[in-house]
Amino acid sequence: MANVDTLEAMERTQGRFETEPNQKPPIGFVLVKLASRCNINCTYCYWFRDADVYNRPSLLTLEAEDAFCRRLEQHIGEFGLNRFLLIFHGGEPLLFPKRRFVALQEKLLGIEERTGCRIDRAVCTNAILVDQEWARLLKRYDVGVSVSIDGPPEIHDRHRVDFKGNGTIADTLRGLENLREEGIEPGLISVCNPATDPEQVLAYAVEKLGIGRFDILPPDATHADNPPPIADYFIRLFDVWYDRYASKGVRIRTLDAMIHGLVGNFSVSDTIGLGPTDTVTLMPDGALEPLDVLRIAGHGSTKTNMSVFKNAIQDVQDDPRWSEAFQASLHLCETCKSCEFLDSCGGGHVAHRWSNERRFDNPSVYCDSWKRIFEHVWRRISPTLTIEYGGPRMSTAPARE
Ligand code: SF4
Repeated sequence: MANVDTLEAMERTQGRFETEPNQKPPIGFVLVKLASRCNINCTYCYWFRDADVYNRPSLLTLEAEDAFCRRLEQHIGEFGLNRFLLIFHGGEPLLFPKRRFVALQEKLLGIEERTGCRIDRAVCTNAILVDQEWARLLKRYDVGVSVSIDGPPEIHDRHRVDFKGNGTIADTLRGLENLREEGIEPGLISVCNPATDPEQVLAYAVEKLGIGRFDILPPDATHADNPPPIADYFIRLFDVWYDRYASKGVRIRTLDAMIHGLVGNFSVSDTIGLGPTDTVTLMPDGALEPLDVLRIAGHGSTKTNMSVFKNAIQDVQDDPRWSEAFQASLHLCETCKSCEFLDSCGGGHVAHRWSNERRFDNPSVYCDSWKRIFEHVWRRISPTLTIEYGGPRMSTAPARE
């Protein structure tokens, strides 16, 4: 099994539908909610916006874990899969007890051995609980790691706070250090604060923390939230990256996805770009639900009647809520269908299209921003495009100053 972090892992789940975009393929990826609670209290967190989470067990129950492992083995066998992806998620997934984490990994190794299917594993964490023992376990079981850091302390600590309102960057950096001492180089995930300068985030991530591959995401929001525009932030982010960091090999997944889309390739991200949303979320009580971010649509918005106790993993595709999200990710609203950035934007993140009146039948709540951002990115990259004569693909080259 190869060590992949969540960024790398998610990229593999994108662009798998080039030939049959309307076909529902065998599920190949599950977001496993090891914990439904968190050890900190980020101001923008999407997870707790749906209070239904408090009706669920705080940790993945042992019964749900066992039932899921049985379903997973059946699923792999039934579809003859040779690769599957699990991302451990929360709340904060490392609230899950270490001894249970070890037991779960051993069960997964057993499934790999019996089926011959490679089960890639990754965890998305705030790293605060990553002590040396956690780092050793993640290393031992080859679990890729992504750490949430929003930037330097003055940016990170504005929103990523504990329950007393104190910043958490110092504890996160301690966890990062423990990971690195074990030889784990995590990916980094940031949520942008449009009121700040992205140059600070880039400088901090690349020069201070030495991280060369990460993602910066817009805050999750629906049309009911009326979020501030993100255009100026992402335009500046693109310019700083393109002019200063791209040639050094620094990669930012959302920017990669924009360029992929603009030159006619499939997106590598679910934030931006055309492509189906077929994520399955395993809830701590064994329920099988759609993509967890859809919880921002409101109370019980991801609730299904599916559970590992009575359903096969593939059955989730028959659930109306899962199916609605999947179909919404493929069938865009009329405004998006006639948009010049349709291929590259794809209507943005499916959760960001939600309104109570029209459900997913809207452009992204960040539509005006995306248009400005795509126009700008295209203006910057188009003079550098090379069309290979006789070949179907186009490629970009870094700008020369
Ligand atoms: S820019 Fe707006 S209209 Fe165009 S595809 Fe994106 S969300 Fe839809």
